[in-house]
Amino acid sequence: MERMCSVEGCGKEAVHELSYNDAKILEGEGLKLKVYHARPPRRPGVVYLCEEHYKLWKKLSKRERKIRELTMK
Ligand SMILES: [Zn+2]
Repeated sequence: MERMCSVEGCGKEAVHELSYNDAKILEGEGLKLKVYHARPPRRPGVVYLCEEHYKLWKKLSKRERKIRELTMK
């Protein structure tokens, strides 16, 4: 996949594709994302992440999930 990471200022090769709905937690960390194929309001679009930012996303989503689990109870 010859795509660049969607995080502004990153420029590394992307290795993962994520729905913007999932990826937007990265914006909470102060990162700007370029979103592709977005057709609001129906389609949130996708973003592409390099290995490094994907790892960061995984860490954040894990934290997010925990918070969600806690608030559901
Ligand atoms: Zn990146």
